[in-house]
Amino acid sequence: LQTKLPAVGTTIFTVMSTLASEKNAVNLGQGFPDFECDPKLVNAVTDAMTSGLNQYPPMAGVPVLREAISAKLHKLYGRSYNANTEITVTAGATQAIITAILAVVHPGDEVIVLEPCYDSYVPNIELAGGVVVRVPLTPGTFRPDFDKISAAISPKTRAILINSPHNPSATVWTEADMLSLQDILAPTDVLLISDEVYEHMVFDADKGQTHQSAVRFPGLAARAFIVSSFGKTYHVTGWKVGYVAAPAALTAEFRKVHQFNVFTVNTPVQYGLASYMLDARPYLELPAFYQRKRDLFRSGLAKTRFKLLPSEGSYFQCADISEVSDLGEADFCKWLTSEIGVAAIPLSAFYGDGFDQRVVRFCFAKKDETLNAAIERLAKL
Ligand code: PMP
Ligand code: GLN
Repeated sequence: LQTKLPAVGTTIFTVMSTLASEKNAVNLGQGFPDFECDPKLVNAVTDAMTSGLNQYPPMAGVPVLREAISAKLHKLYGRSYNANTEITVTAGATQAIITAILAVVHPGDEVIVLEPCYDSYVPNIELAGGVVVRVPLTPGTFRPDFDKISAAISPKTRAILINSPHNPSATVWTEADMLSLQDILAPTDVLLISDEVYEHMVFDADKGQTHQSAVRFPGLAARAFIVSSFGKTYHVTGWKVGYVAAPAALTAEFRKVHQFNVFTVNTPVQYGLASYMLDARPYLELPAFYQRKRDLFRSGLAKTRFKLLPSEGSYFQCADISEVSDLGEADFCKWLTSEIGVAAIPLSAFYGDGFDQRVVRFCFAKKDETLNAAIERLAKL
């Protein structure tokens, strides 16, 4: 059999989680919470199940959930998306992203990704027959370099993928960044896929930082698939429910693929989410919730020989390992998991060429006791 994805093995998240559980390590590798979600959310889903909402929902998602998503986007970012024609409920952000790519990328079309990038983007583009154009984020700071992005756009460019707050670097794009992107794309018909799964995890509001959704920028929103994930926002990564908001013409193309790659997303979870979303507090309180965990983890790590990078958003903290070890990132993460009992993710996993800058990613979406246990082990290094 000739493989369609020669460069692809098993995802780093699965590899590291498997090793962490084999070695009984504290798992700060794969991004997922180790604490429970709000019982109210579980009750809302259970209520939907027991009241018989268990058959196929409408292809695009249950109307009450699409209405709730639309209301949230309007309230937070000021644009009205039509719940019938512009919002689709997906099986997590993963399915949203591949579906958007399959819907718009023709064989030979170029798609720009900014490296380091989430590991599904490149294989998704390749499966669509697209040509991946990699533009590096600025080494060291991971800020977007708009001269490089601009230079990467060609007549063949179909789309660009962006991700803020960013996995793995935990940087957050500013309003000026978004305006620069809007200016660059203005004379083109390049589409935007904006991966905003960590939209509710932007820290340091007192320093004026806030999530700059592409929704806020008319010149971007008009060409964008906005992607988010309830898994991140409500601590339920295993439920695999997210959504895409996009102008009607793009949504129509998106749904042509969606109806054949997933068709629908599970019904009771959608109803449960819709009623839970009526209360905005859980997502409005999320930045403070995670900022406290970030600060707890950072203050612990600051006492070790790891060098901390900024964490402006997401639930990740990157750290430079050069004072701690001579190993490369990937070997270091395996060693750290096996010998020290803490799992982390090498940043090289987010680069096509495995670029190794001696930086690893920790996930702090964990109970305080888990974070403290990890710090105790890391402090030995
Ligand atoms: N994009 C990014 C940047 C992510 O970190 C993740 C989650 N790991 C996803 C997409 C996928 O989200 P989901 O679990 O909802 O499919
Ligand atoms: N997005 C999560 C991370 O970056 C993992 C999701 C997955 O395992 N595919 O850690």
